Amino acid sequence: MSAAQSSLSSADGGFRFDNSWARDLPGTYVAQPPNTAPAPHLLVLNRSLAADLGLDADMLAANPGWFAGGSLPQGAEPVALAYAGHQFGGFSPQLGDGRAHLLGEHIAPDQRRWDIQLKGSGRTAFSRGGDGKAALGPMLREYLISEAMAALGVPTTRSLAVALTGEDVWRDAGRLPGAVVTRVAASHIRVGSFQFWAARGEVDKLRALADYAIARHDPDLVGQDDCYLRFFDRVIARQARLVALWMGLGFVHGVQNTDNVAVSGETIDYGPCAFIEGYAPGTVFSSIDRTGRYAYGNQPLILGWNMAKLAESLLLLMDDPDAAVVALNARLDGVAGRYHTEWLAVMRAKLGLVGEDPADLALVQGLLAVMEATGADWTLTFRRLADAAAGNLSGLRMLFADVAALDAWLPQWRARLAPDAAQRMRATNPLVIPRNHKVEEALQAAEQGDIAPFHALLAQVTDPYRDGPDREAFALPAPSGFGDYVTFCGT
Ligand code: AMP
Ligand code: MG
Repeated sequence: MSAAQSSLSSADGGFRFDNSWARDLPGTYVAQPPNTAPAPHLLVLNRSLAADLGLDADMLAANPGWFAGGSLPQGAEPVALAYAGHQFGGFSPQLGDGRAHLLGEHIAPDQRRWDIQLKGSGRTAFSRGGDGKAALGPMLREYLISEAMAALGVPTTRSLAVALTGEDVWRDAGRLPGAVVTRVAASHIRVGSFQFWAARGEVDKLRALADYAIARHDPDLVGQDDCYLRFFDRVIARQARLVALWMGLGFVHGVQNTDNVAVSGETIDYGPCAFIEGYAPGTVFSSIDRTGRYAYGNQPLILGWNMAKLAESLLLLMDDPDAAVVALNARLDGVAGRYHTEWLAVMRAKLGLVGEDPADLALVQGLLAVMEATGADWTLTFRRLADAAAGNLSGLRMLFADVAALDAWLPQWRARLAPDAAQRMRATNPLVIPRNHKVEEALQAAEQGDIAPFHALLAQVTDPYRDGPDREAFALPAPSGFGDYVTFCGT
């Protein structure tokens, strides 16, 4: 154990920081403090996450300045990290934390290491023309959706708090309350972190970063031959699983840029993300995704594209470039197959199928074709299939305009269904997800000063699998008057 770690003290219930990034990777960040908030106010605090992290929630609540900017917890060493990234396919050599500060790495009681990052905390060396700040709505959105994803079993960054700064920010919508979200992440190492040094030809820095990433996320690979290639395998495996889980839930990330792809395999950067309702693979929500590059059905392809960008960076670290190109290309050729295997496993679980049958793919595709033809609600279809597995077909049939097509599909599924499928399907297919109209309703109320609808929705989406009389208003799709949903990056 290093001296820094042995000096940690958790007795007071505060953060136990051990800032390995700041210590081990000089030159990959700029040290700077968060903006000083004029009137910090802690609006939302995640008490259950605090408990998991070994933090005393009452102590956190007594220090709003830690979460809005203005005061720093003991041991924090705020830094803004450098990274690059392909945004919508075009390379930006310098992005970096333009509105975020990594306070440090908190060591939880189980010795796991967590980045504690403020987002919306003011200008940094990487802000370019931006103000470094964030409006309340998008920060609450990140909190709500990341916590829903965690409850849905998806690897994700978490949200510890949302704090008001007491300062307004100016956006297209006008003057909005400024806020900061506190993000908790396994790390903030992105594909774009590698690209930053690769693009500059700074191989020593790139190697230091890769070795750091391996030590942090795949410590069993430290010192092994071919560790960079094996690390690449691990990242592919984590990302393939992640995107398969997104697809199973109807989740559209919306900005699958290489700077928003974490090598830890966590979902990161909840900007314009949203969940599909009626099934349509071409669904896009983000106002800036005009070509549909990051449409629901494109996410698996973009996964492969993003892994190719990581391969290009890792190539610089390998001794025999010709052999490395062959090895990396072989991995890239395997991404689609790897994803497909993960996706089929997700879909089998959603349909209550146990074991593997060669006809399963056709069975899944048959259902998707019927859903797509009638625009059946993604989430409710699978939830009502659980009821159908228990013998109650009425809810399912109501979702399909073309009931005959559904009825033609059902017998094959029934014949393949595991005996106790209904119960397991209810624990796999959520009843309540963050519905777009509910999210908007909650965020608008919060902007007007009423946080109660946010808490009501948060309670529902972090308990996604339960049935109950209180659930209906949260489980149903948007009323038709809600129209097409458009999301914004919130910058
Ligand atoms: P994002 O769309 O959140 O992934 O951000 C893309 C890049 O823009 C990152 O480098 C951000 O730090 C930066 N950025 C986003 N919003 C702001 C802002 N308000 N001020 C400065 N930089 C920003
Ligand atoms: Mg980003």
